[in-house]
Formats: sequence, structure tokens, C-alpha cells
Amino acid sequence: MKRKIDADVAIVGGGIVGCAAAYYLAKRDVSVVLIERSVVGGEASGRNAGGVRAQCRNRSERLLAMASIELWKGLETELGFDVEYVQGGNIRLATTEERMDDLRSEGEEELAAGLHVEVWGQDEVRRRAPYLSDIFIGAKYCATDGVANPLLVPRAFGWAAGRIGVQVLEHTEALDVEVRGGRVAAVHAQCQEGELVVEAPWLIHAAGPWSSELSQTLDVDLPLHPLRVVLAVTQPVAPFFTEFLSSHDLKVYARPARSRNIHLGLHGDRDTTFDKRTPPEALCQFQRVIEMVPCLRGIDILRTWSGTLAVTPDGLPIIGTVDGIEGYVLATGFSGHGFCLGPIVGRLLSERIVDGRPSMPLDEFRPSRFQHRVETSDSLAFCSTLRPSD
Ligand SMILES: Cc1cc2nc3c(=O)[nH]c(=O)nc-3n(C[C@H](O)[C@H](O)[C@H](O)COP(=O)(O)OP(=O)(O)OC[C@H]3O[C@@H](n4cnc5c(N)ncnc54)[C@H](O)[C@@H]3O)c2cc1C
Repeated sequence: MKRKIDADVAIVGGGIVGCAAAYYLAKRDVSVVLIERSVVGGEASGRNAGGVRAQCRNRSERLLAMASIELWKGLETELGFDVEYVQGGNIRLATTEERMDDLRSEGEEELAAGLHVEVWGQDEVRRRAPYLSDIFIGAKYCATDGVANPLLVPRAFGWAAGRIGVQVLEHTEALDVEVRGGRVAAVHAQCQEGELVVEAPWLIHAAGPWSSELSQTLDVDLPLHPLRVVLAVTQPVAPFFTEFLSSHDLKVYARPARSRNIHLGLHGDRDTTFDKRTPPEALCQFQRVIEMVPCLRGIDILRTWSGTLAVTPDGLPIIGTVDGIEGYVLATGFSGHGFCLGPIVGRLLSERIVDGRPSMPLDEFRPSRFQHRVETSDSLAFCSTLRPSD
């Protein structure tokens, strides 16, 4: 027999976006059922590099990131859980004049937008970060950027949401969305005990790179593709830096964890696949970190893992309602930036549903930028295009 649950809002996806939305909605006395086919934080939200940064972002994402960092500062108190958030700074390094020019012009834009960054010349890099190799001719630094532990954050949101009434259903897969009279009516799902129907007039669809599967049941094609990103963790070392270090030229980044291990990541060389196995060549590529931080030579890499990003054609997330299907809200396609953005996006989604509009503009992320409507013989359908419509 089918089990039926009524709610004001159904959320599909227990990543940071779905869990944050659930939490902020429940705080506004909205009844929420969150459906997660594996476990909360089991995908990118719990497998990422933990970077919480506002610098080096597209202009509209930067505003969201700056607002999100304001939330991050109070998150541990808000959620009642230590998520190892620390504003240890973020250094973007340059080995070439060309890269330095990019950092300088980006820095000017950021300062004009109210984000405090510093552009360092070679002497300043040596003085401020003497552990770096001398190949760097300069850098851009943002002191308010930081990191948190991704293993803890989505779960902390999920636990906090559960405490204030959200039904968090793990091992439950959303299979189909029912629309009645042009409005979302129910989500049909499968859990271990059998079939489940969540009757709700709103659906937040936050299923990361798998979002296209469910949206297709509504004839909405999302231009998302998966991208595998590999990370590694070293043996513990005595702490000697606090910053998230990133070199675009060496295509490598590193950041310290509270556990004293160092987490390493790779830029570029990413595979368009849902396969989470570490490609054999990745281990060699992590060696590039020694060119950035020479004293890491000889340190063991303990293990590697990977996560799957959801990437859109313009690199910006898809956030907002879908024309023609009342109550259907998309929040997906966060690429490599969604961990930082999760808290603010969750809060803005709750405002969209409760107040009718979010307190910050989300227009640049609207789903319709990828959609054009086509008249079919019996229905109005959406098609994706591989370029923004305007
Ligand atoms: C290796 C790596 C490093 C990264 N580093 C950073 C970083 O330093 N800083 C940063 O800001 N971002 C980073 N990111 C990006 C960030 O992790 C993602 O943008 C963010 O976690 C996306 O969150 P989400 O909630 O949209 O999706 P996800 O975390 O992918 O969650 C989606 C959830 O939906 C569930 N789901 C899918 N289909 C269904 C269904 N039919 N029914 C029920 N549940 C379903 C999945 O099981 C999953 O749990 C990184 C990502 C990776 C992979």
C-alpha cells in the first residue's frame, strides 16, 4: 500500500541546498518533507573542498557569496553544531604577468563591490606566506574567505531542520512529479518500505547533477552535465598555514583541516562522468602541490575521493520558478561553488515561498534563460538550448 504524507513543501535532494532550504522554511513554520535517495550530504555537498569564498566569482554570484558568508559567521550558533568553520583567508597565486593582470582587474572589481581583497607583489607574498615556493610573482588575498568541514555542514542543517519539524527521509528516491491544474500536486517516491506519495503544492528540486532525471518527468530538460572532481588528503602535519591556497597556473589547491591533515585538489583535467573512481593519473597530478608548497615534499597522501558537480552552459546555477508549472522551484547547477552559497540560497528559497519574493535578486539565475517554449500538438513543453536565450 502507498504511504501518503501531506506537506506545504516537498524538497528533493539532501545536499546543502536542499537541507538549508528545509531548515529556513521550517523556521518560518512551513511543513517540509525532504526526500534524499541516499544519505544527507552523501554527494558533492559532503565531498567537496570545504572552501567558503567570495573572491574570484562572477559578479552576481559574488553578491550571493558575500551574503552567504554573513550567514556562515553565525551558522554554528544558528544550527547548534560545530562545523569547523574558520575564516583563515584565501590566497590566489600567480606565476605569470598575464595571470597577475587578471587578479589585479578582478581585485579592482571586488573592491568596488565592497569585498575587501589585497593584491600582493612578490615581496609581499614572501613576507605574508613564507612557506610558498619562490615561483610566485604575486597573489590576491581575501582575509574573510575561509573553510568548513563538508562532512558536517549538510548534516548539521539536516539535523537542525529535523529538530524543528522537517521530515528528513533518507534512502527515499523521488521518481515522478504529479501536476494538477498547472500546479505541483505531489511527488511520488520509493523508499525501503515501498511507495510513498508526498502531497505538496510546492516542490524544491535540488538534486544536483541528477536533477535532469526528475525534471524530465515534467518535460523540463535541464542543460546540466556532471563533472568528476578528485580530492586527496595528506597525513597530519604540524600546522604552518591557515589559508586556502590556489594556483591556477599549477592547477592545484591546498587547504588545512582542523584535523591537521591537508586537503589537496586539482583544477582542470576533470571528467564529464558520474563515475566516482579516482583516475590513476590523479595521484601524479597531486605532486604539483610540492611546486606550490615545497615543504610538503615527502608527506604521504592517505587517500583520494571524488565528487560530482552539476555544471550549466554559462557556469551559473539555475535558481527559481519554472514558467507554466506553479510551485515548481529549481535550485541546481551549482558547479564548484555551491558549498559556500548553500546557506543563502536556502534562505532565499524560503523567502520566495513564504514572502512571494526573495530579499536578494535571483533573476540572473532564472531557469528560463535556458528554456524556450515550443508548441506541441497537445501541450506546451520546454526545451533546453545550449545557449542562454538572451
Ligand atoms: C570535489 C569537489 C570540490 C568542491 N569544492 C567546493 C568548494 O571548495 N567550495 C564550494 O563552494 N563548492 C565546492 N564544490 C561544489 C559544491 O560541493 C556543490 O556545488 C554543492 O555541494 C551542490 O549542492 P547541492 O545541494 O546542489 O547538490 P548535491 O550535494 O549534489 O546534492 C544533491 C542530492 O540530491 C540527491 N538526489 C538526486 N536525485 C534524487 C532523487 N531522484 N530523489 C532523491 N534524492 C535525489 C543526491 O543523492 C544528493 O544527495 C565542490 C564540489 C566537488 C565535487
